[in-house]
Amino acid sequence: MKTIPYGHQNINKDDIQAVVEVLKSDFITQGPIVPAFEAAVGSYCGTQHAIAVNSATSALHIACLALGVGKGDVVWTTPITFVASANCALYCGAQVDFVDIDSRTYNLSVERLTEKLAQAEKVGKLPKVVILVHMCGQPCDMAAIHALRLRYGFKIIEDAAHAIGGRYKDEPVGNCHYSDITVFSFHPVKIITAGEGGMALTNDAQLAKQMRCLRSHGLTSDVEDMHPRPPKEIWNYQQIGLGFNYRMTDILAALGLSQMQRLDEFVSKRHIIAKRYDQLLLSLPVVTPYQYADSYSSFHLYVIRLQLDEINIKQRQVYEALRAAGIHVNLHYIPVYRQPYYSNMGFETGYCPEAEQFYAEAISIPMFTVLTEVQQDHVVTALKEATSL
Ligand SMILES: *Cc1c(COP(=O)(O)O)cnc(C)c1O
Repeated sequence: MKTIPYGHQNINKDDIQAVVEVLKSDFITQGPIVPAFEAAVGSYCGTQHAIAVNSATSALHIACLALGVGKGDVVWTTPITFVASANCALYCGAQVDFVDIDSRTYNLSVERLTEKLAQAEKVGKLPKVVILVHMCGQPCDMAAIHALRLRYGFKIIEDAAHAIGGRYKDEPVGNCHYSDITVFSFHPVKIITAGEGGMALTNDAQLAKQMRCLRSHGLTSDVEDMHPRPPKEIWNYQQIGLGFNYRMTDILAALGLSQMQRLDEFVSKRHIIAKRYDQLLLSLPVVTPYQYADSYSSFHLYVIRLQLDEINIKQRQVYEALRAAGIHVNLHYIPVYRQPYYSNMGFETGYCPEAEQFYAEAISIPMFTVLTEVQQDHVVTALKEATSL
C-alpha cells in the first residue's frame, strides 16, 4: 500500500481547467481573478472586505500591522498552533506571550485567558491583540472571548487557517462578528487550496484599506489617500507607507476560486471520515476529538490523544509504529514556546501545563477528502496493533 499522508489536496478537472484559462489569458498575476476569489470568499462568509495575499503568514503580518502592533506592544496567542500565529507579532517588533489551552478542545482556554487578563491589568501589561486559532477547524468560544475584549479593550485576530467552511453558532467562520480580522490559509494541506495563499477578512473599511496598501509595497492609487495631493504628475500612485510584495497571482486565485465551489462538499466529506474514525476507535485507548454542540468544525485535522496510563508504550513508539506501517502521522503541534527560537527568549519547558500534556499524548492521523475506507481501516488496524503492544 502506498504511504498515507496526514493531509492531501483534492484537485479535479475543473480546477485544472480554471488555472489553464488564466495561463492563456493576458493577465497571469494582477488580473480579474484575484478580486473574484476575494468576492467569493467574502460573500461565502458574509464579510464586507477580503484581501487575498500569498500566504496566511503574510495575512497575519499585515493584520497585526493594520491593528497597530509595534514595538512595546504585547500579543497573546495559544502555544498549540503553527509558529506563524506567534511569529507575526515578532515581525512587527512586538513581544509574544502564550495562554494555555483548554483540555477538551485544544483551543486557547477562556478560563486561563480570563485569569491572565486580570493579572496583566494589575501590572499594566494588557495585550494589544489576542490571536485565536480555531484548532483542527473547531471554532474558539468567540462569544466569551468577545465579552473579555469589551472589558479589557484588546483587538482580536482569528487565525482560521484550519477553519474555512466551519461554523460557529450557525454562522460561517470568517464573518468577523466577534473579531477585527480573520485569516485563512490556502496551503495544500488545508481545507481548500490555491497552491499557496492566504486571505484577510474584515468588516472595517479602514483596516481593509491599510491591508490592501501593505500587500503591495505601501502603494495607493486612491487620490483621497495621497498627501500631498498629486500635482500634475503623470503617475497615478504614491507610496504612503512601508509595505511588501505579498500579492497573490491570478494563477493561484483561479485554483482557489474553483475550489470554493466544493468547499461545503469537502467539509461534509471530512465529517463522514471523522464519524467513521469516532466509531472505529471506540474500543482503543485513545481520546477522540471533542466537539462543541453549537459549532461545526471544518475538521482540518483529526487529532487523537493516547491514554498513556492504559498502554505500555510511549507516544514516540506509537508514532514510529504507524510510520513503519506507511502512515505519515504527524504532531500538531509542539508548543510554540518550546521551539529553540522561543526558548532562547526565556520561555521555559512547562510554561503551559495543559499544552505540555497535549504535546505528550497527541497524534494527528490521516484526514483528507480523498482518504479511502480501505486506507482508513489500515490506519485503525495499525493503531490498534501499536497500542496493544
Ligand atoms: C498553516 C497555518 C498557518 C500558515 O499558513 P500559510 O498559508 O502556510 O502561511 C498559520 N496558522 C496556522 C494555525 C496554520 O495551520
